[in-house]
Amino acid sequence: MPAEPTLTQRLWDIAMNLHWSWQPELQELFRELNPELWETVNHNPVALLKRLPPAEVERRGGEATMNTRILYAHRRQAEYMEVAGPLGGIKAGPLNAQPVAYFSAEFGIHECLPIYSGGLGILAGDHLKAASDMGIPLVGVGLLYANGYFHQWIDAAGRQQERYEVNAVDNLPVRPARAADGSEIRFVLEGPGNPLHVRVWVVAVGRVRLFLMDTDLPENDPEGRSLTDRLYGGDHEKRLRQEIVLGVGGLRALRLAGIRPTVMHLNEGHCGFATLERARERMEEDGLDFHHAWTATRRQTCFTTHTPVPAGHDRFGGDLMERHLGWLRERLRLDAKGFLGLGRENIEDPGEPFCMTVLCIKGSNRRNAVSNLHGKVSRDMWQSLWPGRPVDEIPIGHVTNGVHMGTWMAPVLHRLFGKELGRDWERRLSEDPGLLERLSEIHPGELWETHVLLKNNMVQAVRENLARSAAGRGEDPAPWTRVLDPAKLTVGFSRRFATYKRATLLLEDPARLRRLVDDSARPVQFIFAGKAHPADEPGKALIQSLHQLSHGPEFFGKLVFVEDYDIGISRRLVQGVDVWLNNPERPLEACGTSGMKVALNGNLNLSVLDGWWDEAYDGVNGFAIGSTMTHADSGTQRGRDAASLYEALESRVLPLFYQRGADGIPMEWVRRMKHTLRSLVWRYSAARMVQDYMRSAYLPTAGALSCELD
Ligand SMILES: *Cc1c(COP(=O)(O)O)cnc(C)c1O
Repeated sequence: MPAEPTLTQRLWDIAMNLHWSWQPELQELFRELNPELWETVNHNPVALLKRLPPAEVERRGGEATMNTRILYAHRRQAEYMEVAGPLGGIKAGPLNAQPVAYFSAEFGIHECLPIYSGGLGILAGDHLKAASDMGIPLVGVGLLYANGYFHQWIDAAGRQQERYEVNAVDNLPVRPARAADGSEIRFVLEGPGNPLHVRVWVVAVGRVRLFLMDTDLPENDPEGRSLTDRLYGGDHEKRLRQEIVLGVGGLRALRLAGIRPTVMHLNEGHCGFATLERARERMEEDGLDFHHAWTATRRQTCFTTHTPVPAGHDRFGGDLMERHLGWLRERLRLDAKGFLGLGRENIEDPGEPFCMTVLCIKGSNRRNAVSNLHGKVSRDMWQSLWPGRPVDEIPIGHVTNGVHMGTWMAPVLHRLFGKELGRDWERRLSEDPGLLERLSEIHPGELWETHVLLKNNMVQAVRENLARSAAGRGEDPAPWTRVLDPAKLTVGFSRRFATYKRATLLLEDPARLRRLVDDSARPVQFIFAGKAHPADEPGKALIQSLHQLSHGPEFFGKLVFVEDYDIGISRRLVQGVDVWLNNPERPLEACGTSGMKVALNGNLNLSVLDGWWDEAYDGVNGFAIGSTMTHADSGTQRGRDAASLYEALESRVLPLFYQRGADGIPMEWVRRMKHTLRSLVWRYSAARMVQDYMRSAYLPTAGALSCELD
């Protein structure tokens, strides 16, 4: 009999599986071990356990109630790991033998593992979590960035400054990935110059394993070592080399781990080189020629495209490609034209750079955009790849994104649902989405009080954040501890500050905005947050103007800017705001997911009819800005959208919010909250999304593998 694990060992078991990141009781356990330290380490249980003296852990953990909870949590986690999947009446069939491999340049799972920059990464994290919950055989493949994405701070002049922290590996919930014989997985990648050594880590995300590549090894030259230091941090050449590690290296890492994926799912173009590596394997192992190897590779590959914005599609020059991938081109037995043609729209144009999206489209058999509208935009955008085909028949479909319930729904609301729908409602939802209809029975007062509680928590957290930032700039923090009034209508806007998202649309008419915030009967206040890419000067200028406004006498305390937007801050905001503002330039927002997190908490969206909102808005579950008609001139459109935004706030949102019954409850507002929950929670959940991928991509792909060639 093995000895019973100690409390410390049990806590380590829990900490080393990111399953805790969507189990509030587990986070609570860690927090209670030492609340102050829990904040200092940014909610990272591994760092927490490392810093706490073992004797203290045993003493705190040994206290009666704590002891029971740790034992219970440990058992619950073990049970979770054993649940037979998959749920939702889907059979995984051929995927059980070899899983889906989900490749992505970023994964946003929790704020303590900062290897994401925004929506794309968080989507990937939510995909893994939902696949784990549903028991779908899937592994993730990505990069372990030593410095991750930057932390943001705002200097006295209101300028965004970037700070990179070292993600010390031993403070992260990662382990070395091991081969069947127990050895740590390492390999060398071909290329010009010195060989590139790659080490592989593995992260447990519930039942899903995420493999992360890392080149920060003493065997590598300085350039090689720093290759995986930052996400989206370097020049073109570095980006190309990162993507080689991700795509080519990723597939090799899996094979060394004994995993031969049935289906490869490429999440955005960054990971497209996996297709070339797979074709090489087929040629060298199965003796196929390139044409047959490529056809076979395409048959097993699904691709998701994520943006219509041109800068979002990586393009590399032919020389750079030849320098770093000439070895692979030779092994694929292609000439330069044949090789580069895989990434060109016009294969006859020797000047056209190699586009990763084109590679992924050509290298896959099932392709999808991430919302209904984005599907249309993408078919239009890539029509030239199928000369002569009508745009409606371009084979790019759509699977609308979704968000992970356990991660984004406030625990108190989750419990309230449980009271109405039964404790395991979330699990049953995938078989019976109609269950949500019963939410109409929730007592309006109870739903409203829950919302008010979450709103108060958010305001408190935002004040603390603002005061900390002010202190960091050498300003007096005290005034910031009193800003914002939880009784006011509170509108949130947080996302990356990419220019197409038009973060400052609201400032178009400052006088009109002032009247809104100063209205004594029906005031509104705004919370902004978000990072601009370090090289994005226009984005930084938007942050500066918001920051300055938030410090000026007219808007102080009524419009605030929260520093260093991350998953933790996002969770607070989406759970606590009344209204979530989203005003991109239509149709450039492929989907958008932050609004779904808001809807999951019953809060209302006020959004341009772009991305997911174009298909989700039904006239009652929130508010629309503008219409589906867009003017060709973006300046004209901006003016129109700004006018529509003010109009919506003045004549629809504010009157509804302040229309109170004798008990102080805004009945009509709460009715809309309920309708939002009923109509949107399942449809925009990651569980629904992963089910859709199973039905429309993974299973058909796996099923079609036996009929090998056209
Ligand atoms: C959800 C989320 C995003 C994506 O927001 P969009 O509005 O879809 O751009 C970005 N960053 C963080 C931290 C998020 O949680």
